[in-house]
Amino acid sequence: MDKRKKYFRAVTVAVLLVVLSGYGKISDRTFRMQVARVIAGEGMLRLVEAQYGQKEAEPVAEMVSDRSETEDRPRAALTFDDGPHATYTPMLLDGLRQRGIHVTFFLMGKNIEGKEDIVKQMQKDGHLIGNHTYDHVQLDKLPGDQACQQILKTNNEIYEITGEYPLYLRPPYGAWPKNLEFCVTMLPVFWDVDTLDWKSKNVQSVENIVKREVKDGSIILMHDSFPTSVEAALEIVDMLTEEGYDLVTADELLVT
Ligand SMILES: [Zn+2]
Repeated sequence: MDKRKKYFRAVTVAVLLVVLSGYGKISDRTFRMQVARVIAGEGMLRLVEAQYGQKEAEPVAEMVSDRSETEDRPRAALTFDDGPHATYTPMLLDGLRQRGIHVTFFLMGKNIEGKEDIVKQMQKDGHLIGNHTYDHVQLDKLPGDQACQQILKTNNEIYEITGEYPLYLRPPYGAWPKNLEFCVTMLPVFWDVDTLDWKSKNVQSVENIVKREVKDGSIILMHDSFPTSVEAALEIVDMLTEEGYDLVTADELLVT
């Protein structure tokens, strides 16, 4: 389907939603799922459901044994927003590969074009790839259909490269309007340690914040858009590993 048709379909659905929500019918889950099917497409919903199903279907014994070896060790997840960046993301990927560490990248759709190989490398290296909207929009400030498009457009870009629809989303500014649940079957991922790396651009300051605030289960917010962030991230990996932390992808902290 071409972009124009997709656009008209989204607009038609949006109009339908406005009309029907006025009659209070929007709260019906079956109806909302039907709407989601129209906007996201049957294939995407099936994939998301299948992947959720797979997680649930993993043998319990295996998960328990995996966890028992490391269950006394604290865990934390490093997450990187706003990428991919042509220079700094590959630098970060190299450093993480050398250390055998997996992190989570929340990509902006508009930053992907021309950097498909970087996204492929993320997947190949075993990192988790999530969605950070197309244009870095504050989702609760947009009409529902536009907010959905910001997410679905980015999912499609990622799918075209990796063959997998992202299941996790980092809403810019942490703004996650509940009404979006009608169009996306994704989990929002927030954070508890904000390194403010984009603001300070200072390796020591970023490290100090993590040292002070990290705890078991922490999700650490960083940005792979600055050389200082890459340097700090790799030093944080070494520091936390030395302190006995297992560094995991964000889904492992949310799902298990
Ligand atoms: Zn961001």
